[in-house]
Amino acid sequence: MPFSNLGLSDPILHAINELGYTAPTPIQKQAIPIILSGKDLIATAQTGTGKTAAFVLPILERFNQERTLRGKRVRALIITPTRELAIQVADNVAQYSRHLNLTSMAVYGGVDVEPQKERLIEGVDILVATTGRLLDLAHQRALHFDELEVLVLDEADRMVDMGFVGDINKIIDRLPEARQNLLFSATMSDDVRDIADRFTDSKVASPAVEISVSPKTKAANTIHQWLITVDKDTKSALLSHLINEQQWDQALIFIEKKHAAAKLVVQLAKRGIVAEAIHGDRSQAMREKILADFKSGKLKYLVATGVAARGLDIGELSRVVNYDLPFKPEDYIHRIGRTGRAGATGEAISFVAMGDFKNLCAIESRLDQIIERKEIDGFAVRKEVPVSVLNFVRTSKPPMPKSGSQKSRSNTAPPQNRANAAHKSRGKKASVDKNDDRPNKHIWG
Ligand code: AMP
Repeated sequence: MPFSNLGLSDPILHAINELGYTAPTPIQKQAIPIILSGKDLIATAQTGTGKTAAFVLPILERFNQERTLRGKRVRALIITPTRELAIQVADNVAQYSRHLNLTSMAVYGGVDVEPQKERLIEGVDILVATTGRLLDLAHQRALHFDELEVLVLDEADRMVDMGFVGDINKIIDRLPEARQNLLFSATMSDDVRDIADRFTDSKVASPAVEISVSPKTKAANTIHQWLITVDKDTKSALLSHLINEQQWDQALIFIEKKHAAAKLVVQLAKRGIVAEAIHGDRSQAMREKILADFKSGKLKYLVATGVAARGLDIGELSRVVNYDLPFKPEDYIHRIGRTGRAGATGEAISFVAMGDFKNLCAIESRLDQIIERKEIDGFAVRKEVPVSVLNFVRTSKPPMPKSGSQKSRSNTAPPQNRANAAHKSRGKKASVDKNDDRPNKHIWG
């Protein structure tokens, strides 16, 4: 299904096209029509599923259609558990609304409140906020919610974990009852359900729609796909760990670059794991020998670049590893198709690093399925600011819209503040002050 079937107008389609999104992800397909219909939504979806666009795009669409002659009031409030996520979501809002005449910004703790207050005086349609700073600004009467139309709680489970339930309740008490409520959470615990109940309390007459894009449980005779989010530089350690801990009998390991393939073989050898690599720099005779060894079981672990592996008839495999996530969804499907053949059980494991989420979304969209996420002890992702956040400081104006689209005036908090916040939180424990938000627990929030 293309994005154009979802009821989004041209300026929005144009923006997502410019970002390279080819098709909506499963959460987007489900959530966008519901949100456009004005209903409340409770969605279970993990990070990396495209959940941000799932709620931002329909909000933009509604606001673009229903233009108001309102004052300088907030129309949509998106609450996030961490500063980094607030920055990231505001970044997405700015990108998706670049051809619309709507304003947006992020407010969060750890930076000077005054520039945020000044910016709020100018008025903002979509406000992304962390709870501490939001309450602070509300106490200072810098924020008015009397015209609020939509409230979004993003990553509600993390807000519960971080002890923000009291703050959320205080915020909800300040909001008008007639509003649309959207809650997104990776898991639906009792605590999250309590928030959801309270959150949608104002709409007793029209119950919230619930959706979930958790991974499908696959029958035993098909491919078990799962993924791990991992720092790029711990991938080889993770692979060795999995091979040893899970006692893998065999694995075909796909990697993008030939020098990386050779390097990985050395890294595995240092950990006592014998592997061979096939890539463009190996002679045909050598490739054939390695392949024969792999097929006979003499060689258990084969590292292959996508290109080198393409023409190979490797036969049935118990396991493939996307050490690097392929750029094209077709390549992913092709690769995992090498395992679980003829009713045999197969496993396809993908390592997803920072910067891979766009690819992942395209793959999940193509599969129309969410891939199971697993966490491996000792391989938690380093708490670091994502590149996209550091690059967030916009130095140039977005390109002029094409004919028919509207002028953008999307904005976010002052660049220096955003950059400062991003840098401050990197590599050290963020401090927690009274009016502030908790340190980031997991950067890909
Ligand atoms: P999220 O789950 O909202 O954190 O999104 C994860 C990543 O997927 C972000 O980098 C988005 O820019 C990207 N993304 C969202 N929707 C799509 C889509 N339909 N196609 C490709 N990438 C997407």
